[in-house]
Amino acid sequence: MHVDVIRSGDAVPKDGQLLSTCIINEQIAIDAGVLGTMAPATLQNSVSEIFLSHCHMDHVAALPFFLEQRDLTLHAIPTIHAHASCNESLRKHFFNDAIWPDLGRIEREEGLQFCRFVDLVTETTISCREIQITPLALSHTVPTFGFIVRESSTVVAFISDTEYSQFWVETLNCAPHLSAVFLECTFPNRLQWLAEKSKHMTPRDTVRFIEQWEGDLPRIIINHSKPNLLTEVRHELETSLAGSFEMITTGQRYHFD
Ligand SMILES: [Zn+2]
Ligand SMILES: [Zn+2]
Repeated sequence: MHVDVIRSGDAVPKDGQLLSTCIINEQIAIDAGVLGTMAPATLQNSVSEIFLSHCHMDHVAALPFFLEQRDLTLHAIPTIHAHASCNESLRKHFFNDAIWPDLGRIEREEGLQFCRFVDLVTETTISCREIQITPLALSHTVPTFGFIVRESSTVVAFISDTEYSQFWVETLNCAPHLSAVFLECTFPNRLQWLAEKSKHMTPRDTVRFIEQWEGDLPRIIINHSKPNLLTEVRHELETSLAGSFEMITTGQRYHFD
């Protein structure tokens, strides 16, 4: 399995993330924060399935531009998989003729189809060619999924956005042997109060995650760290967890086996 982690933008350091998009095997996107702006056009045209963790702007912002720029001669209608409430929010608050054209209305009027929306169900696996994706309920301010992605014997988890919760840690721990976990760590410890209000993780929570883990620790790749707080987050993680984690490098292709 290979995963392209798309950069957030020129103003964002490579190990920080303002907007989230990962592309698996050039086919499946996890989140669309920068899918339609920073992913190369050839890569965008090869993506046919998009899995959205939740409806917050940093995870969906570039979805309209992805749909707009897509080569229509491909005759491959992209499928957007998300929690029912996320799909509903996109239709109600985003594709509503105020923020962006109402794609559903245009489809009905013109007999076109830009994309299809599919509601995901917790822990119900979807197969996309040789890849199986299982949504895992996280604990955030809106319904949010992490994803356990499996190709043959390779399994990688994408965990963002969430606060620490015993439930998803135990569920993840029961998953087949994990090669890697992309794990969020958004705020430094001094902003634990803000992490709790907005339901994100701090280095203290990451330590808890690693301490609770049973068996061999998978490769831990820290993502979703706010660019302006990145130095603090990295320092706190290095102080308590040196050797047990790595910061994400956006603009890079990861290979897992
Ligand atoms: Zn969020
Ligand atoms: Zn986010």
